[in-house]
Amino acid sequence: MALYDVRIGLEIHVELKTDTKLFCACPNSFGDEPNTRCCPVCLGLPGSMPSVNAKAVEYAVRAGLAMNCTIPHVSKWVRKNYFYPDLPKAWQTSQLDMPIAKDGYVEYFHNGDLKSAGITRIQLEEDAGKLIHEHGKTRIDYNRCGVPLIEIVTEPDFSSGDEAVAFLKEIRNMMRLIGVSDVKMQEGSLRCDVNLSVSEHGAPRGIRTETKNLNSFKAVARSCNYEADRQIELLAAGKAVVQETRRWDDVAGVGYGMRTKQDSADYRFFREPDLLPIMITDEEIESIKSALPPSRKERMEKYCVKFGLSRYDAEILASDYRISLLFEGAASTGVDPKRTANIIICDVLKMAKRTGEEDPVIGIDSKQLAEIVMLIDSGKVGLTTVQKDILPNIWDTDMSAGEYAENNGLMLISDACEIEKFVRRVIEDNRSVADDYASGNEKVIAFLIGRVMKITNGKCDAKLAGETIKKILNKQECKKK
Ligand code: ZN
Ligand code: MN
Repeated sequence: MALYDVRIGLEIHVELKTDTKLFCACPNSFGDEPNTRCCPVCLGLPGSMPSVNAKAVEYAVRAGLAMNCTIPHVSKWVRKNYFYPDLPKAWQTSQLDMPIAKDGYVEYFHNGDLKSAGITRIQLEEDAGKLIHEHGKTRIDYNRCGVPLIEIVTEPDFSSGDEAVAFLKEIRNMMRLIGVSDVKMQEGSLRCDVNLSVSEHGAPRGIRTETKNLNSFKAVARSCNYEADRQIELLAAGKAVVQETRRWDDVAGVGYGMRTKQDSADYRFFREPDLLPIMITDEEIESIKSALPPSRKERMEKYCVKFGLSRYDAEILASDYRISLLFEGAASTGVDPKRTANIIICDVLKMAKRTGEEDPVIGIDSKQLAEIVMLIDSGKVGLTTVQKDILPNIWDTDMSAGEYAENNGLMLISDACEIEKFVRRVIEDNRSVADDYASGNEKVIAFLIGRVMKITNGKCDAKLAGETIKKILNKQECKKK
């Protein structure tokens, strides 16, 4: 069988979390009573006039800069005409040939390798309403009409569904980091279309299909693999791939053709006559750029250089900005950064991922984490207690780790005087065993530590107990001699 090249490009829609919609003052909110967040502008009533939300423009530029794009000084709106019940105006105000940002790239990790994908353009556009199909009927909620979106169009730089998903995760992380979207796939604020083509190895790019509206990472990965296999099978059998728009049925795990691809002429694109071009000065671009938070790369460098972490640890901590915030917040209190990193990587992330969700939520804040690190480092609680008891119980609460340990009797006895009291009692109670130490029996120490642990219900710092036992027995030795 011949070798094939799979080329995947993404069109990613990200809802911007501005207070108001793109062309009117209606609130941009999710989950409200249907059709209560609408006005003549976003309903497209005749005679209504749009005016551009400056915040949405700023967010789009911020996203463009974070993706290393060029920001043209002038960008223009177009009308994309199509007639569909979720679009009362019968056109979507969008961008095409003169977008807000273009020619960028995004670096991302896939299986430990640093990769880069080209960004063709980012266009600013409005969302459509939402069709709700229920009990054989369709109802329409226009609240989402006019919500600002950016559409990120990538180059066909991915060769597998896994790679596309790794990139999408980086985009999700980046959008959160720069604060322009809450990117919740389950609420539709991040949606993705996949363009996929297959060609014989080294041959020019083949005919591509577009699979629309994928709303989970798993669906993106599965539909890519399905579509690549389908096209390879067609080519291997000497048949042609038809250019078409396809749907993915995630329950059945199959894709199917929806309509042969609309030519862009079908949309009858033309300049939006009701809006002026967007003009952006160098000063405005510079000021947005200077306010960008440190990128993943910059954070990684900082973790290696300033905190002395390994590249591996730094990469994990920088992979999600929420984890970065957690780490930096805890480390800034002066606790040991290496220990902090270990607890995040080994315990906190494990805890967050236990439900198997695609977008795990971290249930503790940096203050709680710093306290945990301090408790361990000062010998007040053991690591196992943190893993099995403290972490699961303070998760998703604002309880302090120290107070929880105190109230539930989890604190270890680490006070030297206190430990010495217990040690002396154990030595008295086990005199004959203790005397064996003088004849060189080292096992005595382990036995005595066991006794100390027993009378303290396991709450003694075993290492300190051992040291104290040795110290006392050695002293007694000297006296005898
Ligand atoms: Zn409105
Ligand atoms: Mn779009």
